[in-house]
Amino acid sequence: MEKLGLYIHIPFCKSKCLYCDFPSYTYMEDLIIPYMEALSKEIKKVSLNKTFTSIFIGGGTPSFLSIEALNILTNALDKVKKSSDIEFTVEGNPNSFTKEKLISFKNMGVNRLSIGLQACQDRLLKKLGRIHTLNDFKNTFKEARDLGFNNINVDLMFGIPNQTLQDFKESLEFINSLKPEHISSYSLIVEESTPYYKMRESGKLKLPDEDEERDMYSFACDFLKENGYKQYEISNFALKKKECKHNLIYWELDNYIGCGVSAHSYFNKERYRNTGDVKRYIEQISNGDSVVEESHYNSVKENMEEFMFLGLRKTEGVSVTEFKVKFDIDIKTVYGDIIKKYVDEKMIILDNRRLFLSERGIQVSNSIMCDFIL
Ligand code: SF4
Repeated sequence: MEKLGLYIHIPFCKSKCLYCDFPSYTYMEDLIIPYMEALSKEIKKVSLNKTFTSIFIGGGTPSFLSIEALNILTNALDKVKKSSDIEFTVEGNPNSFTKEKLISFKNMGVNRLSIGLQACQDRLLKKLGRIHTLNDFKNTFKEARDLGFNNINVDLMFGIPNQTLQDFKESLEFINSLKPEHISSYSLIVEESTPYYKMRESGKLKLPDEDEERDMYSFACDFLKENGYKQYEISNFALKKKECKHNLIYWELDNYIGCGVSAHSYFNKERYRNTGDVKRYIEQISNGDSVVEESHYNSVKENMEEFMFLGLRKTEGVSVTEFKVKFDIDIKTVYGDIIKKYVDEKMIILDNRRLFLSERGIQVSNSIMCDFIL
């Protein structure tokens, strides 16, 4: 069956983390119900005559929604056709995944949770502007397991201000003791539009240096491997057969449709994005207007570039044969020089007709991937 993902964006959070540049807003509680109604209409429209193989409700904080709001979403999603082996994920934060909401997500059909822990030390959580504690996480995780959620991802961050390698090791050891099926471990990026950016500019942010960050990343890769987690993407680790199907859709250039504000879609080679304005989104949907703000048909060149730099994120890399089938041209005709350069530098490995980053290559993946932009 052809893969097709549905992404649903919930742009609300209780408070804004200091590093966050995601499309998420606070103090918009009065717009939540109208938003959910508009979102339901969009879901109904886009899902007509389609069967989805994965659904991902992300944000923002989907677990921040009230039961009333969740019921609206449940009604909309009940009518969506799902494959029998669907992966259905919802993202959320420890202190808002209450038992009642976990039950509501279960009734919605959710079979995978993604919980944002980020770090195990309350002092670091505070530093990030997170509003939960380690204890909140422990309670949520236990509650989720007790309710039968047997596919859970935990997000961890490294490169947090004042974080030491020892802190990060402790976080990984703690998470490993709970054995979630999946762990995402991202480095903190200070984005321009965030309070962290201003704090860094004024010297108020003590970030680990590049070497410390590299040590944290290497430790995570080795430690998780020793403990049964396969690194299948630069920042993602999974127990056997627990890779995130939805994210693989993005990295393998398969089709997905996004609903909600700022949601992106890639469908039949067209990339498009919805408006980022919550009020406008609600108004336009209720007027029956399109909420798409930007759209673009990928050229063959763009598809090749995306195939390469998204595919190289995966540890198994890209298939030389698949490239040929997809684009009717040999990969070496297009990328021969770049491939040779990185193979010679032992950053890229060409093996069994697959091209993938070496361990050294993964450390500098961003600059390698940029070279695949034609
Ligand atoms: S909870 Fe997530 S989406 Fe919300 S502000 Fe924090 S990082 Fe951003």
